[in-house]
Amino acid sequence: MIERQPARDRRLPILEIAPPAPSAGRTAAEPGDERLGEFRPEPRALPAFYVWTLGCQMNRSDSEEMSGRLLAAGATEAPTMEAADLVVINTCAIRELAEAKVIGRQGHLGRLKAANPSLRIVLTGCAVRERDREGLGRRYPAVDLFLRPDEEPELIDRLGLASAQGPVGAVGATTIVGRTVVGVADHLAATRSAAVAGGTVQRSSTVSAWLPIIYGCDKTCTYCIVPFSRGPERSRPFDEIVDEAQTLAAAGFREVTLLGQNVNSYGHDLPVESRFGHVRTARWAGRQLDLGSRPDLAELIRAIDGIRTADGAPAIPRLRFITSHPWDLSDRLIEALADCPSVCEALHLPVQSGDDDVLRRMGRQYTTEHYLERLAKIRAAVPGITISTDIIVGFCGETEAQFERTLRFLESVRYDQVFAAAYSERPGTPATHLPDDVQAAEKRRRLNALLALQEPIGLERNRAWLGRDVEVLVDTVARERSHDHDEPEAVGQEMAGEGSGPGGVRPGPGEVALSGRTRGNKLVHLAGPTDWLGRLVTVRVQHAGPYALRGKPRADGVAELHLGDLGRMASQPSVSDLGGRAPTGR
Ligand code: SF4
Repeated sequence: MIERQPARDRRLPILEIAPPAPSAGRTAAEPGDERLGEFRPEPRALPAFYVWTLGCQMNRSDSEEMSGRLLAAGATEAPTMEAADLVVINTCAIRELAEAKVIGRQGHLGRLKAANPSLRIVLTGCAVRERDREGLGRRYPAVDLFLRPDEEPELIDRLGLASAQGPVGAVGATTIVGRTVVGVADHLAATRSAAVAGGTVQRSSTVSAWLPIIYGCDKTCTYCIVPFSRGPERSRPFDEIVDEAQTLAAAGFREVTLLGQNVNSYGHDLPVESRFGHVRTARWAGRQLDLGSRPDLAELIRAIDGIRTADGAPAIPRLRFITSHPWDLSDRLIEALADCPSVCEALHLPVQSGDDDVLRRMGRQYTTEHYLERLAKIRAAVPGITISTDIIVGFCGETEAQFERTLRFLESVRYDQVFAAAYSERPGTPATHLPDDVQAAEKRRRLNALLALQEPIGLERNRAWLGRDVEVLVDTVARERSHDHDEPEAVGQEMAGEGSGPGGVRPGPGEVALSGRTRGNKLVHLAGPTDWLGRLVTVRVQHAGPYALRGKPRADGVAELHLGDLGRMASQPSVSDLGGRAPTGR
């Protein structure tokens, strides 16, 4: 039962940013004495801030907004936490370890505050849940201000820092999920669009951009804290998302990732519009939700793919989306993946377990048969698509036989990549009512067994690319890497004399070790000049490990960098034109 609690006209409590430490003693001065300057009222000293971001892509996107607002208010970015007057910690609560990381730094933060009394610490993200607000001060004693994710746009106001954008006011809102008061993203779409329009999103890359499309989650996965930290789903208006995508294309971003805890259910909460009259979606193995005449993810993907350059190429060459829930993976979405040339051939589709009883206890609302049916349909529609997934081992009541079924499931599906973790109980989630009866040591044994089974599968999937040309979006000057540890001898010798740098590459004169990702989201190491950053480079794959590829760039394979390709774009179809079916044809 969802009850909406309107955002009360809350007087926002202001967190006093301590005025600058008083400067040294004073002596009487003559009118013209330049020391008079000391006595002029000093503008409020703006803090040097540091944002520590943990967790998922949505947190990274939220941190880009918070950094942008602080910069727009005149604050400066500090290179380290130790050099900051204001530390913003954007937390993750998906696993105990993530919260423990921040709790474990309270001592260090306390010492920093002792050394710098004007230091202020703000904690936000999924660890800040309304129902636990009372206990937060005890868990995080060094923190001065707690903001739920839906309250983040209030940061500047709450710090008493005037911004060129003017006060945002009280935008946090709450609602009831089950019997729990939770924050809800009723106003985040508006504050996001205002931030984009005001140019206050401090994007962490000039190559790839996050584009949030839906906040919160309506699902009922029993182990998950997200519905209690981010509230029910709130989709952003269709046109505002397409506008932001056009802005990103005009700015020359090569890759855009549509973000949401569950992007597949985008649009179901938006109003009916006649221009979406052609949208009819039948939900699979779940209750039928009438999505008629509302935009869905497929419609959004077609619209963004429809933003084209004069020569008809997608203005955003690479479009990705994360995270998908198998329950909402519609036929319309699969068709859009197949039809739209900009959509990358990579899908992250968390399965969590290969056993139906475990899935039922997890509240995932699908069966392995349903999941496999969707997977087969995607693989048929997009040949060569890479598939990655999430798996939780040691969930409540998971027997050895059920775990074995998960291992057999991985052997049959043969994922390109698996992100696996041992179950850790999250306070306030429905799973706390289930027995957490798999011992920690057994959870670790199962996790290691699963990773040991998946590693050769990952190697086999990557070896399929040996000798082939792949398009790599170069986005990193690679640091020393240690984990690329497949039979180094055999492959090493094969690449003898080649590999001593990060990823085993050997940069020549004027070159550095670079890395980037294929359209299939495979990590590729290569050597090349730094001005290849942000470019699409064709690489011949010469080495495959379980986690990464390495290769030689083809001399003729470096795509010119056309910042603002849009400049050469055909006259722009208006957003409403994009409301209908976008041009197809891969
Ligand atoms: S789909 Fe499930 S696991 Fe994912 S955010 Fe929603 S409740 Fe959590």
